[in-house]
Amino acid sequence: MYLKSIEIRGFKSFADRTHLDFREGITAVVGPNGSGKSNISDAVRWVLGEQSVKSLRGGKMEDVIFSGTEYRKPLGFAEVTLVLDNSSKSLPVAFTEVSVTRKLYRSGDSEYLINNNQCRLRDIHEMFMDTGIGKEGYSLIGQGKIEAILSGKMEDRRALLEEAAGIVKYKSRKEEAEKKLTNTDLNLLRVTDILTTYE
Ligand code: ATP
Repeated sequence: MYLKSIEIRGFKSFADRTHLDFREGITAVVGPNGSGKSNISDAVRWVLGEQSVKSLRGGKMEDVIFSGTEYRKPLGFAEVTLVLDNSSKSLPVAFTEVSVTRKLYRSGDSEYLINNNQCRLRDIHEMFMDTGIGKEGYSLIGQGKIEAILSGKMEDRRALLEEAAGIVKYKSRKEEAEKKLTNTDLNLLRVTDILTTYE
């Protein structure tokens, strides 16, 4: 699986629709300081469901929308689409090409799409679980991340290894099942209380 292309529109410094094609192997993005190189990796992180504005180098989520320049008015929404090659079927979907889109309006409304079909953020998280690509995945190594991994907490390192080992989805399903069990126990307790009241 590899990143085939990215289309950015209204995201940070990319006011106009910008389409970048990538090939298998290494791609280097070069350009002067402040020209928008990191904004490309921010766009990748964002479309994968990043919710932390800090890691997107902003103060609030609206900051990812093109805020205008001396010569150009601000835009009303930001949209990013990633296209991934899935011929290896690494993603648990039947398609050999998968696109993921995120759109955010200044009103705060947002949309997520997989292959142009509306979906929930959760569907995107689940699709990328255990692939290393998700927003917490190791496929995005930002500045300082290696050092953070090496000198960070043991639990954080473990989370990274668990993602690589492919067991995150089982952990997440276990957590969900445990939550349901706790809720069922609480419901049972309420039923017992009600029954006791009527006895
Ligand atoms: P460096 O080489 O210094 O790390 P870079 O090429 O990685 O730079 P970025 O950090 O990607 O550059 O881009 C910074 C530019 O993006 C700045 O000029 C900033 O004004 C612009 N920018 C960031 N957010 C927005 C926004 N919402 N609207 C318009 N421009 C923005």
